[in-house]
Amino acid sequence: MQDSGNVPAVREGIAWAAGLFEGEGCFHYSAASTHIRASLNMTDYAPVEQFMRIVGIGKVRIQTRPSPRHQDQMHWDVSNRPGVIHVFELLRPWLSERRVAQAERALAEQGAAIARAAIRRATACKNGHPRTPENTQWIRRSGRPSYRSCKECARLGRVRRTSAEEPGA
Ligand SMILES: [Zn+2]
Repeated sequence: MQDSGNVPAVREGIAWAAGLFEGEGCFHYSAASTHIRASLNMTDYAPVEQFMRIVGIGKVRIQTRPSPRHQDQMHWDVSNRPGVIHVFELLRPWLSERRVAQAERALAEQGAAIARAAIRRATACKNGHPRTPENTQWIRRSGRPSYRSCKECARLGRVRRTSAEEPGA
Protein backbone atom coordinates (compact mmCIF):
# COMPACT_ATOMS: atom_id res chain seq x y z
CA MET A 1 0.00 0.00 0.00
CA GLN A 2 1.17 3.53 -0.66
CA ASP A 3 1.57 6.00 2.17
CA SER A 4 0.60 9.00 0.06
CA GLY A 5 -2.93 7.85 -0.64
CA ASN A 6 -3.83 11.03 -2.50
CA VAL A 7 -1.32 10.52 -5.33
CA PRO A 8 -3.51 8.15 -7.41
CA ALA A 9 -6.42 10.56 -6.90
CA VAL A 10 -4.31 13.46 -8.13
CA ARG A 11 -3.25 11.44 -11.18
CA GLU A 12 -6.85 10.50 -11.84
CA GLY A 13 -7.83 14.14 -11.61
CA ILE A 14 -5.17 15.16 -14.13
CA ALA A 15 -6.22 12.33 -16.46
CA TRP A 16 -9.84 13.52 -16.20
CA ALA A 17 -8.75 17.12 -16.95
CA ALA A 18 -6.75 15.90 -19.95
CA GLY A 19 -9.79 14.01 -21.26
CA LEU A 20 -11.89 17.15 -20.94
CA PHE A 21 -9.25 19.27 -22.67
CA GLU A 22 -8.82 16.70 -25.44
CA GLY A 23 -12.51 17.08 -26.29
CA GLU A 24 -13.23 20.73 -25.52
CA GLY A 25 -9.84 22.43 -25.32
CA CYS A 26 -7.45 24.08 -27.73
CA PHE A 27 -3.87 25.32 -27.93
CA HIS A 28 -3.70 28.40 -30.13
CA TYR A 29 -1.02 30.79 -31.36
CA SER A 30 -1.95 34.09 -33.01
CA ALA A 31 0.67 35.38 -35.45
CA ALA A 32 -1.07 38.79 -35.44
CA SER A 33 -0.76 39.36 -31.69
CA THR A 34 2.10 36.83 -31.07
CA HIS A 35 0.03 35.61 -28.09
CA ILE A 36 -0.27 31.95 -27.17
CA ARG A 37 -3.28 30.50 -25.36
CA ALA A 38 -4.66 27.29 -23.94
CA SER A 39 -8.45 27.49 -23.68
CA LEU A 40 -11.45 25.39 -22.80
CA ASN A 41 -15.08 26.12 -23.68
CA MET A 42 -18.14 24.42 -22.23
CA THR A 43 -21.73 25.29 -21.42
CA ASP A 44 -21.43 23.82 -17.90
CA TYR A 45 -19.72 25.75 -15.14
CA ALA A 46 -18.81 22.93 -12.73
CA PRO A 47 -16.44 20.94 -14.98
CA VAL A 48 -14.64 24.11 -16.12
CA GLU A 49 -14.14 25.21 -12.51
CA GLN A 50 -12.97 21.70 -11.59
CA PHE A 51 -10.57 21.75 -14.54
CA MET A 52 -9.08 25.07 -13.36
CA ARG A 53 -8.64 23.69 -9.81
CA ILE A 54 -6.71 20.69 -11.17
CA VAL A 55 -4.41 22.58 -13.55
CA GLY A 56 -3.97 25.28 -10.91
CA ILE A 57 -3.84 28.32 -13.20
CA GLY A 58 -5.85 30.40 -15.65
CA LYS A 59 -9.14 32.20 -15.27
CA VAL A 60 -12.78 31.40 -15.98
CA ARG A 61 -15.29 33.82 -17.43
CA ILE A 62 -18.76 33.62 -18.89
CA GLN A 63 -19.15 34.34 -22.59
CA THR A 64 -22.72 35.42 -23.07
CA ARG A 65 -24.14 34.68 -26.49
CA PRO A 66 -26.25 37.31 -28.21
CA SER A 67 -28.72 34.81 -29.61
CA PRO A 68 -31.17 33.14 -27.20
CA ARG A 69 -30.80 30.01 -29.35
CA HIS A 70 -27.22 29.67 -28.09
CA GLN A 71 -26.34 28.82 -24.49
CA ASP A 72 -23.79 30.93 -22.66
CA GLN A 73 -20.31 29.44 -22.70
CA MET A 74 -17.95 28.97 -19.77
CA HIS A 75 -14.53 29.96 -21.01
CA TRP A 76 -11.28 29.04 -19.23
CA ASP A 77 -7.94 30.17 -20.57
CA VAL A 78 -4.32 30.83 -19.77
CA SER A 79 -2.52 33.15 -22.16
CA ASN A 80 1.11 33.38 -21.10
CA ARG A 81 3.87 31.09 -22.35
CA PRO A 82 4.96 29.60 -18.98
CA GLY A 83 1.30 28.93 -18.13
CA VAL A 84 0.60 27.21 -21.45
CA ILE A 85 3.76 25.09 -21.04
CA HIS A 86 2.67 24.15 -17.50
CA VAL A 87 -0.77 22.98 -18.67
CA PHE A 88 0.68 21.19 -21.69
CA GLU A 89 3.29 19.27 -19.68
CA LEU A 90 0.73 18.36 -17.02
CA LEU A 91 -1.86 16.96 -19.47
CA ARG A 92 0.50 15.70 -22.15
CA PRO A 93 0.63 11.97 -21.13
CA TRP A 94 -3.12 11.66 -21.79
CA LEU A 95 -3.44 13.87 -24.87
CA SER A 96 -3.77 12.56 -28.41
CA GLU A 97 -0.91 12.93 -30.89
CA ARG A 98 -2.98 15.50 -32.72
CA ARG A 99 -3.44 17.66 -29.58
CA VAL A 100 0.25 17.29 -28.64
CA ALA A 101 1.24 18.36 -32.16
CA GLN A 102 -1.10 21.39 -31.89
CA ALA A 103 0.60 22.50 -28.64
CA GLU A 104 4.12 21.90 -29.99
CA ARG A 105 3.34 23.84 -33.16
CA ALA A 106 1.90 26.80 -31.19
CA LEU A 107 4.91 26.89 -28.84
CA ALA A 108 7.39 26.58 -31.73
CA GLU A 109 5.70 29.36 -33.71
CA GLN A 110 5.69 31.71 -30.72
CA GLY A 111 9.28 30.74 -29.89
CA ALA A 112 10.36 31.70 -33.41
CA ALA A 113 8.47 35.01 -33.16
CA ILE A 114 10.16 35.79 -29.81
CA ALA A 115 13.57 35.09 -31.38
CA ARG A 116 12.77 37.31 -34.39
CA ALA A 117 11.63 40.13 -32.06
CA ALA A 118 14.88 39.86 -30.06
CA ILE A 119 16.91 40.22 -33.27
CA ARG A 120 14.76 43.20 -34.33
CA ARG A 121 15.29 44.91 -30.96
CA ALA A 122 19.03 44.33 -31.21
CA THR A 123 19.24 45.92 -34.66
CA ALA A 124 16.50 48.59 -34.60
CA CYS A 125 14.52 50.72 -32.16
CA LYS A 126 10.80 50.12 -31.61
CA ASN A 127 10.06 52.48 -34.50
CA GLY A 128 12.42 50.67 -36.86
CA HIS A 129 15.33 53.17 -36.85
CA PRO A 130 18.74 51.48 -37.08
CA ARG A 131 20.68 50.89 -33.86
CA THR A 132 23.92 52.21 -35.29
CA PRO A 133 26.50 54.04 -33.14
CA GLU A 134 25.67 57.24 -35.08
CA ASN A 135 21.97 56.94 -34.21
CA THR A 136 22.48 55.98 -30.57
CA GLN A 137 22.80 58.27 -27.58
CA TRP A 138 23.31 57.22 -23.98
CA ILE A 139 21.02 58.89 -21.49
CA ARG A 140 22.56 59.37 -18.06
CA ARG A 141 20.62 60.58 -15.06
CA SER A 142 22.16 60.78 -11.62
CA GLY A 143 21.39 57.80 -9.44
CA ARG A 144 20.11 55.69 -12.36
CA PRO A 145 21.81 53.31 -14.77
CA SER A 146 22.41 54.88 -18.18
CA TYR A 147 20.36 53.56 -21.07
CA ARG A 148 20.61 53.80 -24.84
CA SER A 149 18.15 55.88 -26.77
CA CYS A 150 17.37 56.39 -30.46
CA LYS A 151 18.50 59.80 -31.76
CA GLU A 152 15.98 59.74 -34.61
CA CYS A 153 13.08 59.09 -32.21
CA ALA A 154 14.30 61.96 -30.01
CA ARG A 155 14.53 64.25 -33.07
CA LEU A 156 10.99 63.35 -34.24
CA GLY A 157 9.72 63.95 -30.69
CA ARG A 158 11.24 67.46 -30.71
CA VAL A 159 9.64 68.15 -34.13
CA ARG A 160 6.22 67.03 -32.82
CA ARG A 161 6.52 69.16 -29.68
CA THR A 162 7.60 72.21 -31.70
CA SER A 163 4.70 71.97 -34.17
CA ALA A 164 2.22 71.45 -31.31
CA GLU A 165 3.44 74.69 -29.73
CA GLU A 166 3.00 76.71 -32.94
CA PRO A 167 0.04 79.07 -32.65
CA GLY A 168 -2.87 78.05 -34.87
CA ALA A 169 -1.30 74.72 -35.78
ZN1 LIG B 1 13.87 55.35 -33.25
